[in-house]
Amino acid sequence: MSRVRTLDVLEPIVASLVTTGSVTARFRTQAIDLVRAEGLGRARIVHRIVDLDAIDGDILVAGGERFQAPRMLPESGELTALAFAAATLGPDVPARISALFAERRMSLAIALDEIANRMLLEASRRLQDMVMAAVKRAGLTMAGELRPGDPGLALAAQPAVLRLAGAAAMGLSTTGSLALHPAKSTTVVYGVGHDLPAVTWSQCDDCRSRPTCRVAREAAAAVTA
Ligand code: SF4
Repeated sequence: MSRVRTLDVLEPIVASLVTTGSVTARFRTQAIDLVRAEGLGRARIVHRIVDLDAIDGDILVAGGERFQAPRMLPESGELTALAFAAATLGPDVPARISALFAERRMSLAIALDEIANRMLLEASRRLQDMVMAAVKRAGLTMAGELRPGDPGLALAAQPAVLRLAGAAAMGLSTTGSLALHPAKSTTVVYGVGHDLPAVTWSQCDDCRSRPTCRVAREAAAAVTA
């Protein structure tokens, strides 16, 4: 059984945001105030470590599901499990953004969308820390990160990732096109095992969206900080 945790993800990001000096910053401040006033600054996260049943060529079999994810196979050490994890801001944030667009309050809607993306990124970081801590407690190592739909793991894996993470417990599901519902949610798979070496690849390596992707840009900035 996966344990769902709730995190405050607004206050940790506020200090890093520019909220004065421009029209954009003014709407950002309004969006922050709205999130605070309506209690929207929380994320829910969940994860589960699932032992591998088998490695069948480049297919990793875990929890009765099959994942074609050859990048996860380590150059040394032993891959023994996969960690499945999910984070969501819940349905209220995307509903509020949609309502603002419907009311034609475009600037505030865009500012709230930006704040929501940053809150989800903060939730992803904290989720990774929690999975890492759980892996360490189990005396194991963690290496490799894939997200359904990014290079290295097909989007078709999304329902299996949700199931194995236990994400239904926080209301997460997929649409007919395998998008996450509610929006402002994310899932991830980590490699887990004995003596796994640090990976030299990233799911972003071959991604066409990389030049414009804020997630990749902020991840790179965190590494070089
Ligand atoms: S560049 Fe962005 S969209 Fe592409 S894999 Fe990396 S995080 Fe995902």
